[in-house]
Amino acid sequence: MTILACHELQKLVRTIPDYPKPGIMFRDITTLISDPNGFKSAVVLLADRYRDMKLTFVAGIEARGFIFGSAVALELGIGFLPIRKKGKLPFRTIGEDYQLEYGMDRIEIHQDAITQGDNVLLLDDLIATGGTAAAGIDLIRRAGGVVDHAAFVIDLPDLGGADIVRSKEVDVYTLIEFEGD
Ligand code: AMP
Repeated sequence: MTILACHELQKLVRTIPDYPKPGIMFRDITTLISDPNGFKSAVVLLADRYRDMKLTFVAGIEARGFIFGSAVALELGIGFLPIRKKGKLPFRTIGEDYQLEYGMDRIEIHQDAITQGDNVLLLDDLIATGGTAAAGIDLIRRAGGVVDHAAFVIDLPDLGGADIVRSKEVDVYTLIEFEGD
């Protein structure tokens, strides 16, 4: 199987204007993951960057971060840690509240998911304003994990999220960029 270049991956992402509300250009990755070559390429390109880094976990953010994150963890031969929306995990949790455009949200992990010093890669499908990723990094660090790297299939650079993550001393790697929001 040939690994596609990033500009070819970009063509596999479908854009849906005005979803979920007017003015938003929704970047739909279902068309990328339904293409076997596209899905494999995205996962291999992400994993290649981290093969020699002695990571302990890939932490993926619910829900689309689970799709790419679990595949990258398999590719790297390490565990997967789901960062879930509030109230979904069955055991004792620790959580982090973060700001949405309107109101607040909360992400959670199990209290015992991370051992002090675990080296965690944070992964999501897309970074926009960076609020979700920043909360994920803060949460993992509070649990004792080290987060030096975050990866996203798609970056919306005009929204500045990757810079917010970088300001937390985290290296950011993305495959595809879309201008605007
Ligand atoms: P943010 O916290 O603003 O960086 O938003 C990131 C989260 O919202 C990710 O989990 C994305 O899946 C989702 N998201 C934000 N904007 C978009 C968009 N334009 N298209 C698709 N998903 C988006």
